[in-house]
Amino acid sequence: MQPRLQHKTALITGAGSGIGSAIAELFARHGADLALLDLEPDAVERLAGRLQASTGQRCLPLQADVTDAAMVNARFARAIDALGRLDILVNCAGINVFRDPLELQAGDWERCLDVNLRGAWHCISAALPSMLAAGYGHVVNIASVHGHKIIPGSFPYPVAKHGLIGLTRSLGIEYAGRGIRVNSISPGLILTPAAERYFDSCADPAAERLRQAELLPCKRIGEPSEVAYAALFLASDEARFINATDLLIDGGRSQLYHA
Ligand code: NAP
Repeated sequence: MQPRLQHKTALITGAGSGIGSAIAELFARHGADLALLDLEPDAVERLAGRLQASTGQRCLPLQADVTDAAMVNARFARAIDALGRLDILVNCAGINVFRDPLELQAGDWERCLDVNLRGAWHCISAALPSMLAAGYGHVVNIASVHGHKIIPGSFPYPVAKHGLIGLTRSLGIEYAGRGIRVNSISPGLILTPAAERYFDSCADPAAERLRQAELLPCKRIGEPSEVAYAALFLASDEARFINATDLLIDGGRSQLYHA
């Protein structure tokens, strides 16, 4: 196998679970040294230890809440110091806040926008100075099909994900002439711990899982590794002419007019 990120360094947020963990695993297998950031330290410590042992790549676990700009800045400084530089940032930390708009509870709006949108901006602004100094950097934001299409009852998550796609396009253009690319990926339903928590919250989890799979043209739910391969491509120099755009990975569901 030809490693596609050899001699590159990457910081991945939300690396302790689901899509972020799958991206970390694939990037390490493709030769990147990594900083793995998550809210809780245990999962990233375990993952970093496992990946370092299995791939020989440097893997630095970092605990931070992406909503805390000062904490994010401190952790990014540590990562850049340890890894030597930062070539790639993947913003994957995210939370589901799905409500009827008129039944929002106190803090729902702030929590949703803070983690899913402002958190990504905190991380990009912490990475940009060193990327700009190097004249090289690739950012991949994990957005969602909810940034393209609306499912009633999922408010205000789509507001945040539309914003994240807007952030992607805006910053992609802002820094395009200085060696920086900013792209996003919009996954459809992907089988991760977050998706499992959603199924578990339904009256009949097995029936809901089947219903969701049936809605998809390909009749199956996506896998985290399928998003990771798209992130690998966008984060690599293979995608050097791709900037300020969004890639939908949803098995075609969002193109259906009527299911
Ligand atoms: P997941 O399994 O819950 O993983 C998300 C990770 O982000 C968790 O480790 C979580 O930590 C971490 N995180 C949450 N809030 C954080 C914060 N404030 N600071 C730092 N880390 C934080 O979710 P996933 O399904 O893999 O989702 C990953 C990304 O893909 C999210 O942005 C999500 O919106 C997006 N996405 C997912 C799907 C899907 O169907 N799964 C579809 C479209 C888009 P804790 O576990 O400690 O909270």
